[in-house]
Amino acid sequence: MSPHVPPHVLVVAGSDSSGGAGIVRDIETVSAFGLRCSLAITAVTVQTHQRVERIEQMPPDLVADQMRAAFAADPVAAVKIGMLGTAAVIDTVASVLASSLPVPVVLDPVLASSSGGQLLDDEAIDTLKRKLFPLCTLVTPNLPELALLSGRPLASGETEIVEQAEKLFAAGASAILVKGGHATGATATDLLIQPGREPVRFDASRIAVAMRGTGCMLASAIAAHLAQYETLEISIGKAKRHVFTKLLAARP
Ligand code: PLP
Repeated sequence: MSPHVPPHVLVVAGSDSSGGAGIVRDIETVSAFGLRCSLAITAVTVQTHQRVERIEQMPPDLVADQMRAAFAADPVAAVKIGMLGTAAVIDTVASVLASSLPVPVVLDPVLASSSGGQLLDDEAIDTLKRKLFPLCTLVTPNLPELALLSGRPLASGETEIVEQAEKLFAAGASAILVKGGHATGATATDLLIQPGREPVRFDASRIAVAMRGTGCMLASAIAAHLAQYETLEISIGKAKRHVFTKLLAARP
């Protein structure tokens, strides 16, 4: 393989016709750090910024073939997983990952769009936890996603957040980054929670701007740094600064 090929981040995710979230965000983020993307499209969604109008799931074998071809074509140094849509696609993604060379995997557990549509079947949540969590380096839920994944009401403080994250460790996750964007207050705090370790806080001033796709951006930026052998904490810190800069630039 040519030494001049930059590391690739394999993006396994859905498209969003508005460009506000999904693959468009993933590619622009990975490119911003000088890396290239390989791509496995899981679903095509028709969205405006106000609503989800249509979702076409890709057949699981098509997702698997895209992933295998990506691994065969280029040096995949990390995987970023976004929208998966169905239990069958989750199952397939998990089995391709389990049979590939191990690389860092960042999973943004996309359950819904802020434009108002469900992006993961209810029954798929269980498959996500059982099959995919054990293969992930990091899972990045926001507070509503953490509540749904742990089967608890929305957490209102750090103790509850840690309790809910611990339920996900029982399911096989090894590190959880709980995003505080849906909380209130002047500071948006993300918490990195790992078994047997003190939680690590990542603080940023809250920017009053409505921007979609920040979850996609954060997870892709973390994957791009992990692909370059940065530690988890450094990767998260740099990714958070990247998203903060984008939010600042989007202010009216
Ligand atoms: N649509 C697609 C295809 C996505 O992948 C995602 C998030 O990853 C979303 C929508 C949700 O993004 P947001 O909550 O920012 O609207």
